[in-house]
Amino acid sequence: EEDEMNLASYLERSVRENPQQVAIRMDEQEITYEQFDQRARALAAYFRQNGFAKGDKVGIYLANCPDYLILFYAAWMLGGVAVPINYRFRQDELAFVIADAEIKWLALTREDLEKLQDILTEHEHIRLLLAGELEEGNRHTCLSEIYKTNAEQKVSVLPCRDSEDAMLMYTSGTTGKPKGVRQTHRTNSASIEMVVDAWKLTSRDHILATLPMFHVGGLQCTTLPTLFTGGTVTLLSRWSPKNWISQSRELQPTWSGLISTMLIDVVNFFKANPQEQRQMDHYRLCFFGGSPTPRVICEYFEEVVGVNLLEIYGQTELSGLMITYQAGERRIPGSMGKPMAQVVETKIVSADGERMIAPGDEEAGVMYLRGDVVTPGYWKRDELNRERFEDGWLKTGDIVRWDENGYLYYTDRFDDLIITGGENVYPKEVENILAEHPAVAEVAVIGTPHERWVEQVTAIIVPREANVAIADIEAFCMQHRGLAGYKRPRKVIFVSELPKTGSGKINKSILKQQYRMQQSTNETID
Ligand code: ATP
Repeated sequence: EEDEMNLASYLERSVRENPQQVAIRMDEQEITYEQFDQRARALAAYFRQNGFAKGDKVGIYLANCPDYLILFYAAWMLGGVAVPINYRFRQDELAFVIADAEIKWLALTREDLEKLQDILTEHEHIRLLLAGELEEGNRHTCLSEIYKTNAEQKVSVLPCRDSEDAMLMYTSGTTGKPKGVRQTHRTNSASIEMVVDAWKLTSRDHILATLPMFHVGGLQCTTLPTLFTGGTVTLLSRWSPKNWISQSRELQPTWSGLISTMLIDVVNFFKANPQEQRQMDHYRLCFFGGSPTPRVICEYFEEVVGVNLLEIYGQTELSGLMITYQAGERRIPGSMGKPMAQVVETKIVSADGERMIAPGDEEAGVMYLRGDVVTPGYWKRDELNRERFEDGWLKTGDIVRWDENGYLYYTDRFDDLIITGGENVYPKEVENILAEHPAVAEVAVIGTPHERWVEQVTAIIVPREANVAIADIEAFCMQHRGLAGYKRPRKVIFVSELPKTGSGKINKSILKQQYRMQQSTNETID
């Protein structure tokens, strides 16, 4: 049995209850809920006049900005599917997503439009929506113009079934291409309501939002729960610890979320600037997560800033975070918290797949999750869906253990996923590209420890010629249209051979053991 539901209705409710409150702020821009609503309705009216059909995919290739959230609201109103695209993707990666997702509408800046001219001419059917300031000529596709010319239009929210897709979010794929994760109205509303409930969010809350909106951290964990409860979102236009600290001081937000790299940056900033004022009593909640985080960093941050940090565990496949603490609960160092039992069931299975592991067993196993928040599957990836789902259980790929009180501890990954500065990279994507280089005979990509990125992408290469230089490989990666900056190897190592398994495959676990030991030589955080 399916319920009618539309995520846009949650936003409508906030508009009704808090029309004059600031919904979204960034730098000098401030948008009240009423203005947020007017702009979204104007855009929805424009969509409708131009043949928008239910289920149409709206690609968003932008850095965080108020338009981003307006695009979501407008797309949902008409039963469309928002496709936030990693803004660090370069031409080939973007072209892949556009084709794979079957994008019908694409929001981007004029600058990017010029850079992407050749791929966009191959997709002439795509209707472009330009964000930012524009010159004369192309005005009809400019978002700011659409908001003005359609301001008086009436559009109402189209009811959807709760199993219908609301979002398609791309994340790195084991096979070498990004994979689209389907997120429905149901998975999103369950996830967002859970956040609101666990962290007791109200219209008085104000988030300083640091994380990109093309990831769950920047949407379902932060901006959307805030907008669903009528609070205020301040978007930090560019990450720097200094920016975060000064906006915190100036605006006195009540909560914020940081990935490990950001915590490290803030800690290092305070160490380098001992004269800076540190305590931030206005924060009632700061969370961190997304990848394993060194304990000393959390402790230093808590001591210096005076805020009790909460850890989160999230995944694109769960439309957000699913393991955390309640607001005000004391964090247990090293534990991600508890699974949010009202929306997700947890099962931990021994590595051999034979036994169920119970709380208190202290043995690590593979974590499976089931419930309202779990994705119905990957977009157009039948084989992967068969691999990752068993009787409705999602195999998360994460190896965890739990204590007798039900707190979960992260131990390892089941596969080769690298998480660098909060971005996921499957080695295959990078290996495929490096293999195109004529001087590369064999290559293996692994993650090695890094003080700021937590892990850094590292390429271990058997060169075909003796005289190839590391700089050649680096230049090749820099110029490659298919390699987002964060996927680029930050360390290249030449070897004469790679360790192999009995079946002749590269033995990654030997490589990881070998190179994980070699801590990078950058300054350490003491
Ligand atoms: P975001 O969308 O903000 O990047 P995310 O990184 O949590 O959120 P994904 O990109 O889908 O979401 O990555 C999910 C993976 O990140 C998990 O499967 C797990 O391996 C890792 N991860 C998430 N949170 C934690 C955590 N607290 N500790 C260790 N690993 C984590």
